[in-house]
Amino acid sequence: MNSSSVDAVVIGSGIIGAMSAHYLLEDGRSVLIIERGEVARGASSGNAGILAFPEIIPIAAPGMMWKAPKWLLDPLGPLSLPPSYALNMVPWLWRLWRASARPAYERTVGVHARMMPMARSEMLRTVERTGLRAMVKQTGTLDLYDSEASLNAAADDWQAKRKAGFEFQRVGRGEIDSLQPGLAPQFRHGIFTPSGLQVSDPLEFTQALFSNAMSRGASLRIGEVIRIEPVNDGARVILADGAIFEAKTVVLAGGAWSKKIVTGLGDHAPLETERGYNTTLPQGAFPLHRQLYFNDHGFVVTPLSTGIRVGGAVELGGLKLAPNYKRSEAMLKKAKSFLPDLKTEGGRQWMGFRPSMPDCLPVIGPSSATPAIVYAFGHGHLGLTQSAATGRLVADIAARRKPALDIEPYSISRFR
Ligand SMILES: Cc1cc2nc3c(=O)[nH]c(=O)nc-3n(C[C@H](O)[C@H](O)[C@H](O)COP(=O)(O)OP(=O)(O)OC[C@H]3O[C@@H](n4cnc5c(N)ncnc54)[C@H](O)[C@@H]3O)c2cc1C
Repeated sequence: MNSSSVDAVVIGSGIIGAMSAHYLLEDGRSVLIIERGEVARGASSGNAGILAFPEIIPIAAPGMMWKAPKWLLDPLGPLSLPPSYALNMVPWLWRLWRASARPAYERTVGVHARMMPMARSEMLRTVERTGLRAMVKQTGTLDLYDSEASLNAAADDWQAKRKAGFEFQRVGRGEIDSLQPGLAPQFRHGIFTPSGLQVSDPLEFTQALFSNAMSRGASLRIGEVIRIEPVNDGARVILADGAIFEAKTVVLAGGAWSKKIVTGLGDHAPLETERGYNTTLPQGAFPLHRQLYFNDHGFVVTPLSTGIRVGGAVELGGLKLAPNYKRSEAMLKKAKSFLPDLKTEGGRQWMGFRPSMPDCLPVIGPSSATPAIVYAFGHGHLGLTQSAATGRLVADIAARRKPALDIEPYSISRFR
């Protein structure tokens, strides 16, 4: 057994770990990142790449329980609950249902609305500081609806976004055609958000941020953390191979795999995974101008530097069930009917684990065992979007400064 001492340890090299490392380095801390697999190969590698700052509406929303049964009836639809995992999901679904009641829902919208402007400004500041500005593109976002009735049903959500300061415009077929030629005729109702941002490719972006941290003195240790323990002036991290690291600050950014370690610290995290699927088609599969959200079908199509990514959906199937790539195929088939000239050959399928809390808010804050252990996980659908804000808050908490934002809504203690 060997034991070494470092200033700050970050567990996990996904976008949350990489951003936490960046902000700790900005504070002059020395950082060791511990990753059990390949760098940045978790959820952060294959997401849609969208910096979805206007997305303040949680999935736990009033009326959700009316929509869910319809979606669940289609085994390859936007939401699925494999029977073999259904019982495990009951406590999480119960909490999700409670979070969808109006007062809780409005509180969550408010919490996201307060974080998003900071998430945006911190992201833009970080990409400037790290020389990654060219990886962030303002393509604008086109939200598409199957019918006027369906767009009207979303009117309250859009109103809430407008109230939070996000600008957008309602568009009809003519504008849709000029924003994105080649869509099937059924799309006659949409919303265009000109400020919509995305990264060129989420894996390349996370790896570039990680490499930047390494070039500024961070180091990497490959190994699986099995436990964190508080010690007098910090915390001790124990790896499966017997190595031990002591640090003044330990950040847990293990994405969907964070729960066991949290439980070992005496905290309760009702963390589950919303598995998502996609297919990345080769460059040239379609002349795509910008992100397209197919709102009535739960998937998006994004133009990336590595190809055209078609994906989304939610499968509540835990961490161990084998992927069901029929989901990727079903979304691709729909995308082909929505974009008839889409070339669907030669795609690469992927499934990833969104780390999801039932109240649709991440956990960011000190553990109840010691302020030296800082939690940063559970970002669900918004991990890339909220990563810079999270990194900033992690560094504030580690430095015992007043956080840039009220962190009470993100506290682990809300699940006591
Ligand atoms: C289909 C899909 C589309 C998405 N689209 C978007 C989008 O457009 N915009 C957006 O903002 N978000 C999106 N998301 C969500 C986003 O991808 C996640 O919220 C985000 O990647 C989570 O980042 P993370 O760093 O917490 O987790 P991860 O990227 O999963 O990283 C966690 C890392 O921790 C490591 N780890 C875990 N446990 C240990 C341990 N014990 N010891 C050592 N290492 C450990 C893992 O190996 C992994 O590398 C999408 C997700 C999916 C699945």
